[in-house]
Amino acid sequence: MGIVTGDALIGPNAVIQLGDVLAALGGTKQRSVFSTAGILPYLTSPPASMIHEAEVFSLFQTVWLQFPETEALAIMYEAGNKTGDYILHHRIPGAAQKVLKALPARLAIPLLLTAIQKHAWTFAGSGSVKIKRCGQASISICDNPLALPGCPWHLGVFEALFRRLTDRYLVFKHTHCCAKGDDFCRFEISRQMVLRNPNSSFEMPVET
Ligand SMILES: [Zn+2]
Repeated sequence: MGIVTGDALIGPNAVIQLGDVLAALGGTKQRSVFSTAGILPYLTSPPASMIHEAEVFSLFQTVWLQFPETEALAIMYEAGNKTGDYILHHRIPGAAQKVLKALPARLAIPLLLTAIQKHAWTFAGSGSVKIKRCGQASISICDNPLALPGCPWHLGVFEALFRRLTDRYLVFKHTHCCAKGDDFCRFEISRQMVLRNPNSSFEMPVET
């Protein structure tokens, strides 16, 4: 799983937000996971600046190994969602958010992809990020240092940002994964078709 060099850095929210999700499961469990991952000091003194990607991967991998797969996927996805929310509130200026929300998704998505690339340090560490804006839009991370099978954390980060800023029915399909033997992790942008009942405001998204 993943390729850890130990030198590259990642935004501290990868640990802080996952710590919050684990805390909701109980302090004992949270402490056990952080202890096994070798980052117990971060519980009493959360990281305030960039941290080594090896520490983040150790925490991710510990969650993956200590929980049943379905639960681990849900925990990592929620932690990614919370990290995406943090980026939204602290890293993307309000004026830029207004512009993105006002634009049609086909125009907003390429702009947000560019912004994502500029903030790649938040989630990519030593991995190199490639963005595809035309045709099948996608984000690829070569040698993703934080890869878990299916990369639920990354899906959570990307879907939080793109759904809130461009299209609430947008989904990412994880087509290639370093944790499954590929050289890169690729996340392709897709959209859920929406079934509307003309007699109700209820909308049912259906993945296409
Ligand atoms: Zn992956």
